[in-house]
Amino acid sequence: MAKIKYCLHCGEELSVKNINGKTYLACSSNNREYVHWDNPIPVVAAIVEHQGNIILARNKKWSPRMFGLITGFLEKGESPEKAIIREVKEELNLDARLEIMIGVYPYPEQNQLFIVYHMTADGEIRIGEELAEVISSPPEKLRPWPLGTGLAVKEWLEKRGLKAS
Ligand SMILES: [Zn+2]
Repeated sequence: MAKIKYCLHCGEELSVKNINGKTYLACSSNNREYVHWDNPIPVVAAIVEHQGNIILARNKKWSPRMFGLITGFLEKGESPEKAIIREVKEELNLDARLEIMIGVYPYPEQNQLFIVYHMTADGEIRIGEELAEVISSPPEKLRPWPLGTGLAVKEWLEKRGLKAS
């Protein structure tokens, strides 16, 4: 994620400031102080079930053996539900329905917050331009990764009585 260096209001360089024991970038050059709070960014994610299998995707920027859920940012004014339906369409060309919201998972490593859904989807998979490839896996063969959306996969498997291996 790009780091902000300059004040959005006056263009002065931001300086480090301590507020309640945490470190922020801030500008005090004008009367109204600007603090770059760097709040976590919400990211929607989906366990997409297609013909009984779960679709995992590899982003073009990822290493060859790295696969994950379908994820994306919300557009301006967009609800999380609309956003994840749009992302599944854009990235897989599938028409997806929300089944359940699995949960909300902090991902401090990237200053993000995942909102994770289980969705069922119909159609022919055709991958979008952000993806290198997808794989489809029976749910019981999923091996959840120990952070971020992997925690949602683990919980979802457990709720279905499938032990995460
Ligand atoms: Zn300023």
